Amino acid sequence: MKKKKLTTSAGAPVSDNQNSLTAGERGPTLLQDHVLLNKLAHFNRERIPERVVHAKAAGAHGTFTVTKDVTQYTKASIFAKVGKKTPMFGRFSTVAGEKGSADTVRDVRGFALKFYTDQGNWDMVGNNTPVFFIRDAIKFPDFIHTQKRMAQTNLRSHTMWWDFWSQVPEALHQVTILFSDRGIPKGIPYMNGYSSHTYSFINARNERFWVKFHFKTQQGIQCMPQAQADELAGQNPDYHTEQLFNMIEKGEYPKWTLYVQVMPELEAENYRWNPFDLTKVWPHADYPLIEVGEMELNKNPENYFAEVEQSAFSPANVVPGISFSPCKMLQARIFSYADAHRYRLGANYEHLPINRPQCPVNNYQRDGAMRFDGNGGASVNYEPNSFNGPEADPAFAEPPLKISGNADRYDQKRGVDDDYVQPGNLFRLMPDDEKKRLIQNISASLKQVSKDLQEKMVAHFRKADKDYGDGIAKEIGL
Ligand code: NDP
Repeated sequence: MKKKKLTTSAGAPVSDNQNSLTAGERGPTLLQDHVLLNKLAHFNRERIPERVVHAKAAGAHGTFTVTKDVTQYTKASIFAKVGKKTPMFGRFSTVAGEKGSADTVRDVRGFALKFYTDQGNWDMVGNNTPVFFIRDAIKFPDFIHTQKRMAQTNLRSHTMWWDFWSQVPEALHQVTILFSDRGIPKGIPYMNGYSSHTYSFINARNERFWVKFHFKTQQGIQCMPQAQADELAGQNPDYHTEQLFNMIEKGEYPKWTLYVQVMPELEAENYRWNPFDLTKVWPHADYPLIEVGEMELNKNPENYFAEVEQSAFSPANVVPGISFSPCKMLQARIFSYADAHRYRLGANYEHLPINRPQCPVNNYQRDGAMRFDGNGGASVNYEPNSFNGPEADPAFAEPPLKISGNADRYDQKRGVDDDYVQPGNLFRLMPDDEKKRLIQNISASLKQVSKDLQEKMVAHFRKADKDYGDGIAKEIGL
């Protein structure tokens, strides 16, 4: 095959890409070596801001196929009929570590999916856990600081973790999952993905249902023992990234079954749990899983930066038939994800090929840094107008949502046991050997903090389940 000619970024042919232009054989470099300057200047700008959280990730393209009819709950076009296929892209990350950090650390995993539906992009920006550490986003920057590095030493700190968690008992449920076997998956194909938040479904009759999404792995949940994870973190920090890439290259396409839990709108008012509290699950006995479809990852990215690093997910990206709920964490993420992408990638990040919807996009947004499509051409750029510009369609209006009460700052806890029952339920469903590993994992971390913090935490664990707290107290020698 004939080789392409090397050019500058302005397209001019390059005569020599190995020797810079100098004044004489041993002389200094000439400022007019624009080939060198062009190369160095672009190199200096190769990095874009790293995500504050979820910086390290692998990604892949795939397909979503509807297997069961859920049109009684939602008019979303992605679920319109059994057999319908929608292209998608997924990005799977650790949370706390920086971009080059090890894949096999104990951490929550991001499970971010973008479905290119024919009515716009639906982003399901979830985690591999059904709950989260906090239920109000006003705590989020503080919580993430505890997972990052100390101000003076730039080291991570067990004291920061437990100091925060001991004063925020709503974290106990997620802490229990984090230190359980599921805190270190064997790989991306071996974990579930959850919306964690409650969202809403709206059907063709404009009825609203509350909904939680569960992507259950068809490979089966498989976790990695701590010792193996520690070893791999040194030997192959990119273990999970490599594993996913190689599986897809070999044609071993990982699959997940999508289920939903559905709650009729009015049941939310009197349910035992606040259904919009992100630290809670809806027990399966109350809201059984309803099958919807299958997601398969079947194509590796061609270019990591263009597709995985530049992919930008936002819970604000919903489509007709899928919408928000009053979950306080979701409400804040609707703002903060798109805000992060505007900072990281610029105002026109949704025009990047990986983020671009695969359906027509018509609006009056124009200009901005790095606008690289036709920018709307000669079409009218304001509304109302008399020039046949795109128009809003009231048929897509959501049913009104009844809200009552005084504007105030509310703690959403329901009863004194609210933060303890579900972590206790999780502990009690674990087999004995897993309970033992959970206690050992927590104790290994708690042994590194002050006695005062240990005592506070053991009191919380005892409230979840006496055996849980007693086991930890014994293991750390309290
Ligand atoms: P169920 O017995 O009906 O469900 C238990 C669920 O817990 C399982 O379906 C499985 O969910 C998950 N699970 C099983 N073993 C473990 C484990 N070792 N670590 C983490 N999760 C596990 O009871 P409930 O629905 O009442 O839930 C009981 C507890 O299970 C909850 O308090 C919560 O901590 C946990 N859980 C519940 C989920 C839910 O949506 N109801 C989802 C995940 C966990 P899966 O199939 O999703 O892996």
